[in-house]
Amino acid sequence: MKFKVLKSLGLIKSQSLDEILSLILCNPKSKECSYGECSNCEKKSLEFNLGEVNLEDTVNWKEWSMQTHEYNDKANNNERKTTKKNMKSEKTELLIDLVEAFTQEMFEFKKHAYNIHHQYIEHQRCIKNLDDNTVTIHIDFSENYATKLSTEFKQSILVHLEIKLPSILP
Ligand SMILES: [Zn+2]
Repeated sequence: MKFKVLKSLGLIKSQSLDEILSLILCNPKSKECSYGECSNCEKKSLEFNLGEVNLEDTVNWKEWSMQTHEYNDKANNNERKTTKKNMKSEKTELLIDLVEAFTQEMFEFKKHAYNIHHQYIEHQRCIKNLDDNTVTIHIDFSENYATKLSTEFKQSILVHLEIKLPSILP
């Protein structure tokens, strides 16, 4: 993970991603700040401790990512097929590119962190207001999850999180 590599090289002093968010946002719980719509913090990014490193050095690390995986389909005459698989792979990059990629990822991460927090709050509110005959189903469509479901479809499921028990039981 980029955070761990940069931390082990001493470029990042923060102990966690949450700590970084509290440094680059006025308020990590605010939607405006998290979505880059706050004029006060939209341009803020993490300051790296570049004192003792050479940005032209190459670094190696391992990272999980979605990759195309080839396999023989036994049910289909061992036909060669491909699928997407979450796999750990060795990465090699210039330190400067790693710093840039991490900065870009933090930009996405601050939105993601806000969404997770917001969903949690909404979920808690939902549970509190349930009557005895209602169940909630919480589905987390991870933003990394490669799926054929369209965004529209995912949203329609999220809107219908509450399903009345009698309607799904015989
Ligand atoms: Zn702000």
